[in-house]
Amino acid sequence: MQQLDNLFVALMFYIYICSMPFYLNNTKYLSLYKLYNYLKSKTYFIFKKNGFNFLPYPLPYSLAIEPVNFCNLKCPECPTGTDKLTREKGYMDFELFKKNIDEQKSNLICLILHFQGEPLLHENICDFISYANKNNIYTMFSTNAQLLDSQFDDICKSGLDKLIISLDGLNQETYGKYRQNADISQVYKALSKIKNYKKTQRPQIELQFLVFKHNEHEVKELKTVKSKYNIDKIAIKTAQIYNSPELVPENENYSRYKKENGRLTIKSELKNSCRRMFSSAVITWDGYVVPCCFDKNAEFTMGNIKENSFREVWKSKKYSEFRKKIFTDRKSIKICRNCTENLKQKSIRYI
Ligand code: SF4
Repeated sequence: MQQLDNLFVALMFYIYICSMPFYLNNTKYLSLYKLYNYLKSKTYFIFKKNGFNFLPYPLPYSLAIEPVNFCNLKCPECPTGTDKLTREKGYMDFELFKKNIDEQKSNLICLILHFQGEPLLHENICDFISYANKNNIYTMFSTNAQLLDSQFDDICKSGLDKLIISLDGLNQETYGKYRQNADISQVYKALSKIKNYKKTQRPQIELQFLVFKHNEHEVKELKTVKSKYNIDKIAIKTAQIYNSPELVPENENYSRYKKENGRLTIKSELKNSCRRMFSSAVITWDGYVVPCCFDKNAEFTMGNIKENSFREVWKSKKYSEFRKKIFTDRKSIKICRNCTENLKQKSIRYI
């Protein structure tokens, strides 16, 4: 059986090399074990979704950690901004963060430092990045950029690899309809500062534009913004909608939903599979492990890293049963019904 495992891993190797994500192109973040674990994860998923289950079980190669779960904005479809998070509010303790990185540094390639809340509200965010960077893990996070201008120098020094900046509107009127409480001039101020940095001295900058009905006409102007501020990439993304169907764009290409009897449902067929079950997990500020970023309220906690090692949680019976349910009856899990994982229609287009 072991020989069969090795043969399959070798066969998949070439395909994966050709389709590797950006962070795997930097050898700093790779070791032989990480590469092996990454390939195992990809291979395991392919076999699992085809009903096979015989490869050795992989550890995640990617992880999201929530530095804080509060925010300075009030975006109408965000559970944090609208105060609908039922979880206690707080910020992750640096020692807890370190404990988890120390445990997982041999398997982690990528660390995402956001979940619910604005990461720049954590006073140690640069220490988090530096610590992960020193341990050879690729780091990235997403920000609303209201506090970015004054913190950007420190972020660059910390060694962050990628920064995602939300800009869902090109003037205060379109921007402020969704980013409530925010001032667009703060975003442009930060972008003007970033423009003066050499690309080698700053993280990769990705501008994220969530498309709504009130800003869809601005998509055509994004190329100009990209070159004006020397931005590396713009992600044009469909928005996750819970309560406000009036926000859904007219152009169907910018929406992940269709209307059925006045209700919004995901356009593509929901397949009974999820690659994230073998590649990643999310840890809330207070140590709970949840399956993915769609579980905003931590309704599906698999365990807590304050009480158990991450490995114990990841390999627990509870996690296995959750995975099993996704691969047999994904629709029965509330968070999995409004999720873009493994859908035919892509939720992001890059320019
Ligand atoms: S919500 Fe989506 S990404 Fe999360 S576990 Fe369910 S299918 Fe996977």
